[in-house]
Amino acid sequence: MTKPARSRDFHALSTDDALLALDVTAQGLSAAEADRRLQVHGANRLPDPPRPSAVLRFLAHFNNVLIYVLLGAAVVTAALQHWIDTGVILMVVVVNGVIGFVQEGRAEQAMTAIRGMLAPRAAVLRNGRRVSVDAADLVPGDIVLIEAGDRVSADLRVIEARSLKVEEAILTGESVPVDKGAGPAAKNASLGDRTSMLFSGTLVATGTGRGVVVATGAGTQIGKISGMLSEVQTLTTPLVRQMDIFARWLTLFILMIAAILLVYGYFVSHLPFSDLFMAVVSLSVAAIPEGLPAVLTITLAVGVQAMARRNAIVRRLPAIETLGSVSVICSDKTGTLTRNEMMAATLAASEHVYSIGGNGYSPEGAVRWREADVDPDEHLVLTEFARAAGLCNDSVLHDHIDGWRVEGDPMEGALMALAGKITGHGSEPFQSWCRTDEIPFDAAHRYMAVLHHDHDGKARIHVKGAPEAVIAMCQKQCAPDGGREPLDSGHWHRAVDELAAEGQRVIAVATRAVPGDHRTLELADLEGRLMLIGLIGLIDPPRAEAIEAVAECHRAGIRVKMITGDHAATARAIAERIGLQNHDRVLTGADIEAMDATELAEAAVSTDIFARTSPAHKLRLVTALQSRGLTVAMTGDGVNDAPALKRADAGIAMGQKGSEAAKEAAELVLADDNFASIAAAVREGRTVYDNIKKVISWTLPTNAGEALTIVVALFAGMALPITAVQILWVNLITAVTLGLALAFELSEPGTMRRPPRPRQEPLLTGELIWHIVLVSTLFLVAVFGIFAYAIDKGYPQVLAQTMAMNTLVVLEIFHLFFIRNIHGTSLTWAAVKGTKIVWACVIAVATAQFAITYVPLLQAVFGTQAVPLLDGLLIVGVGAVFFALIETEKQMRFALRRPVLENRNRG
Ligand code: ADP
Ligand code: MG
Repeated sequence: MTKPARSRDFHALSTDDALLALDVTAQGLSAAEADRRLQVHGANRLPDPPRPSAVLRFLAHFNNVLIYVLLGAAVVTAALQHWIDTGVILMVVVVNGVIGFVQEGRAEQAMTAIRGMLAPRAAVLRNGRRVSVDAADLVPGDIVLIEAGDRVSADLRVIEARSLKVEEAILTGESVPVDKGAGPAAKNASLGDRTSMLFSGTLVATGTGRGVVVATGAGTQIGKISGMLSEVQTLTTPLVRQMDIFARWLTLFILMIAAILLVYGYFVSHLPFSDLFMAVVSLSVAAIPEGLPAVLTITLAVGVQAMARRNAIVRRLPAIETLGSVSVICSDKTGTLTRNEMMAATLAASEHVYSIGGNGYSPEGAVRWREADVDPDEHLVLTEFARAAGLCNDSVLHDHIDGWRVEGDPMEGALMALAGKITGHGSEPFQSWCRTDEIPFDAAHRYMAVLHHDHDGKARIHVKGAPEAVIAMCQKQCAPDGGREPLDSGHWHRAVDELAAEGQRVIAVATRAVPGDHRTLELADLEGRLMLIGLIGLIDPPRAEAIEAVAECHRAGIRVKMITGDHAATARAIAERIGLQNHDRVLTGADIEAMDATELAEAAVSTDIFARTSPAHKLRLVTALQSRGLTVAMTGDGVNDAPALKRADAGIAMGQKGSEAAKEAAELVLADDNFASIAAAVREGRTVYDNIKKVISWTLPTNAGEALTIVVALFAGMALPITAVQILWVNLITAVTLGLALAFELSEPGTMRRPPRPRQEPLLTGELIWHIVLVSTLFLVAVFGIFAYAIDKGYPQVLAQTMAMNTLVVLEIFHLFFIRNIHGTSLTWAAVKGTKIVWACVIAVATAQFAITYVPLLQAVFGTQAVPLLDGLLIVGVGAVFFALIETEKQMRFALRRPVLENRNRG
């Protein structure tokens, strides 16, 4: 290429000139040429939006109230020349900032990696064949195939368009889709009027087409106004935001208490200011849950990663929480519950029913009738079947070393293979026919029609689609000798029911000859004028793992519903094999239309199978189920599914067969289109919610216990059982280890045997408040108890304080093991064995405690003294008693709750 492509007004050129200018034919580039151009033009990617420098991001971690309080305290202690205190406080500040910075960086990396998994792909012609490539690999001159639901991935000059409409709001602000065509636009047309161009980032609303890439990456129109695309996703959910707000108010509350204590201690108890001040600072540090928001963010990031490993990619973080409370999953059938590995198994013609042999998508196999191979020349209807199957088809079969694969729709791949089997001409049986026009498949009208011309100029229409839709347009049927005879629609509907009852997906094919000068295809060319060739039955076996996952959902109190565009009998047969609860009753799209909102809400709850639905019905179903207080997850793939996906509490799009439009409307994308991944995502969603709850249930009572110790001592006018510096130390060492460990907790056993959490369940349940009160009281009693015991034994105050501090840490560790199993017992081997992370944290904390207790240098800094062995054992013993108490209390609560659970499960 001599000139950079973007300098030309491609919109005003004719298509031939545009192709010429880009040095490419309608067959597309060769792979080698595409590689060469990729070297020249670079990847088709927008530059990353600028992000704040590392220094700024590091400093941002110091921008919070607690840090200000601490810095203030450091200044005051320095003024009082308490250098050790100043040093410890500054250490707390720096360590907090570093940990926050590192963890945030890791969380961000995880999110970027996950976003990378959603990288868009594009269908292009290379060496004249359709292949799917990473959109980043597009180069100027590539011929791109587009269809409804695609996000255009480069600037394209349209070279072929069929009812193509594109939504260009992202560029022009105009949300009404505009028509696109191959005819050149005026040279001075503004962006919005360049009807011959498709711009990167815009969304194809309807139709299909082809375009040649004229600009990629930063050279595209959207690249020129870069910056507006950088959609920044903050790592938060409603629950975490709620905790953030809570933490801020709590901080204010604590600061007020601290101020009151300062005044009270100074004027009423007449304590020396410097001791009092340090006590109040340590109270603030102990009580303010400074690490909580960061730990919750990490919990979310860990959850997002865990889901990604299970092929569920979270697009919007709040979905994690919603997933945990899902009570109904509405799933597609084809490809989600079934394998979407289709094979044509049966052909039903007016007289004979043929069975088809062969394997996978290989275009080789025998056609049999009554246990014997048949010769297509003697059964002329077979040739008609082959032509309709091969021409009314957008898929391409590729011969790989490990078998044949489909590029495009698997059902069409199966039909292409069928055409190959009948004609014996391999994977491209009808090369000499050329497509002149088409009506693309749409889930709302359920058929696809094409008009072809052959070399002699003869023209033919072929139609394939749902039998009801196609038969209704036919007037004649194909006789066994290939001739025409009147349509016997009763016969056909019986045949459909028979095939569908076996779980086969049934489609009808029809045809019609038209004069050679007929070059456009309209609805009027079809209605009442077609000749029915017959029915094709395709098998699509259920996914074994979906059967397992449906059972798991049922155990977890989640209802699974199948919503399909397929025939009712097919849907029922598959539902039975998949194990849906109620597979006797089927509601069809027509039934749904006949109902008003109340009737539908009633029926939607009790029915599990919805057949012959169109995307608009999905939206009504979501609304109906939600009106009954259910939390609905809904899957979808087509461009028309977007409204239902948006409306659902958790919209789930298919990563492989889903359109870009569906993915963008969804909260979750399944990398493998597999129902089992939804169940896994629900499990992870529940786990993340549990972990958030665990982090909170561990942090709040711990903080309250520490703070109360100081408050009580101050008000009672006694010596602090734990010195201020020691409290700071404990906070520093445990908050970043023990608190963080809970973010990495795995699912508790039984996570998927609990009923879903009610959507509106508040975080601050009576149970949590009770837990806080109980645990902080026990902390208080144990710490003061050990302190009093030591004083009573005649130990110096320094040793008593060291023992009290160690007691506090031991209690926190035992509390951690308790919290790990809030839904079950902690008294199993698995619970004690824990995870590597938990034990790593415990070992780290224990080492730190040994160091501060026994290393002379640290003893001097923190005012500690070596604890005698027996007293050390006593402290661990106190921890064990504490653990026994709270575990027993939990079992008491469980004993009263269990029958209620079982009732709910049954309902
Ligand atoms: P599902 O819910 O099983 O994915 P769809 O909405 O994709 O169903 O399809 C509904 C019906 O439309 C199918 O049962 C089939 O009869 C017909 N159909 C599906 N895909 C095509 C296609 N590419 N061409 C013609 N008809 C199709
Ligand atoms: Mg479908």
